[in-house]
Amino acid sequence: MKAIRIHQNGGPEAMRLEELPDPTPVKGEALVAVEAAGVNFIDVYNRTGLYKTPLPYTLGQEGAGTVLATGEGVTGVRKGERVAWYGTFGAYATRIVAPAQRLVPVPDGVTSKQAAAVMLQGMTAHYLARSTYVLKPGDTCIVHAAAGGVGLLLTQIATLVGAAVLGTAGSAEKVRLAREAGAVRVVDYTKEDFLAAAKELTDGRGVQVVYDSVGRTTFDKSLASLAPRGMLVTFGQSSGPVPPFDPLRLSQGGSLYLTRPTLGHYSATREELMWRANEVLGWVRDGTLRVRIDREVPLADAAAAHRALEARETAGKVLLIP
Ligand code: NDP
Repeated sequence: MKAIRIHQNGGPEAMRLEELPDPTPVKGEALVAVEAAGVNFIDVYNRTGLYKTPLPYTLGQEGAGTVLATGEGVTGVRKGERVAWYGTFGAYATRIVAPAQRLVPVPDGVTSKQAAAVMLQGMTAHYLARSTYVLKPGDTCIVHAAAGGVGLLLTQIATLVGAAVLGTAGSAEKVRLAREAGAVRVVDYTKEDFLAAAKELTDGRGVQVVYDSVGRTTFDKSLASLAPRGMLVTFGQSSGPVPPFDPLRLSQGGSLYLTRPTLGHYSATREELMWRANEVLGWVRDGTLRVRIDREVPLADAAAAHRALEARETAGKVLLIP
């Protein structure tokens, strides 16, 4: 099998295409032929070492493909079935061995590429809107990087449940895409003040929730955009980590809530994983959720995919095709 590995943390050049022995599934595992692997910002953090992993490390935490073999005691997935996953390391490869409990069958009517594109970012959008802060009709929320991988899906889901979305994005084309996804207003935050836009949109009251994946450059104004008792959901740091924070600011800002969630805690059990995945994949199948695949990159060119993501060149999903 072929795999993209790193032997030390570093820039995109640290990634190498290597030939490795095919893995064998043991008890409870399945061997999967990867058809598409999702590229996510977390892969950049694993590569640079912001999020630590043992080395050498095969990158990638999301993908879809076909089950080639199963180990002893596997139920729920079978040989020949199409499956998708997130959270199992080693997706940037032609083969992966994964715990069968973390594999989700891909329904007919959803392509493997679409499934690979929503397992991490779509499930994240789902838990943010449906569990972390449960959006309801009449709410106004801010979605930062609204034309990004999580952003386009979160904007659609928030709109679907009846909330008004104020999106932010970093170019005229991205502003257009976020509008298309359903945002009632989109601000190019490299030029315009999103805090002023949030106040204007809510007649000065502020928004109920801010979903902030950008981190360092947006954090302060995100906090200031909230209505009293609103919630700041800081779930990423595309612009850099958020500096240390004094909790007294939550009281001064209006008895605010701050949370820093992660998908693993919102899909820890098989039941929760399947509930979210079935809802997201069902929406993809019936066209409720549109998946924008920004680009498909050959596995061997994984470094180019990382460079594009880090340079803010992408809008939607980047896939690696083995
Ligand atoms: P995106 O597709 O959103 O890509 C990142 C986007 O962030 C860019 O396209 C860019 O959009 C924006 N951005 C703003 N400032 C910068 C900067 N200085 N450098 C680079 N990008 C910048 O990526 P993902 O959807 O994969 O992930 C977004 C964030 O959410 C990441 O931090 C990721 O780790 C996190 N995440 C967290 C999860 C969780 O459960 N906690 C799960 C999934 C993702 P623009 O040009 O419009 O500003």
